[in-house]
Amino acid sequence: MEQGFCKFCGTGKYVQTENKDDVDETVTMECDCEDGLEYRLLKKTRARVISLCMSPKEETGMKPIAEDVTRSIADVSEIICFGHVDQIVVHAEGSTITITRKAEGIDVTRKKLMSAKATIIKK
Ligand SMILES: [Zn+2]
Repeated sequence: MEQGFCKFCGTGKYVQTENKDDVDETVTMECDCEDGLEYRLLKKTRARVISLCMSPKEETGMKPIAEDVTRSIADVSEIICFGHVDQIVVHAEGSTITITRKAEGIDVTRKKLMSAKATIIKK
């Protein structure tokens, strides 16, 4: 067990980590101070965006989105976490990624674009 400290409020806690450099990060991610909670929301939202974009489950039939594009989407998701914007919708690789602020947290969804449309012209 190693003692680490929250990056924001300085609260100390003993935690078990594989890498010594992760001690403060682990304590910060477990801290319930206001900044710690916001940091956790941001980190988890970024991780969810990155996993849905770059490693979609095979059964969904969705293609991975390029890393640099995914990083940009993850960066943009931060303005949702900070509460400035309620929803962001991105269309990429035949799918729609929607990031929405909810009362209880942040929703991240990726849906494959599937539609059948026909315009029948009367003539
Ligand atoms: Zn804290």
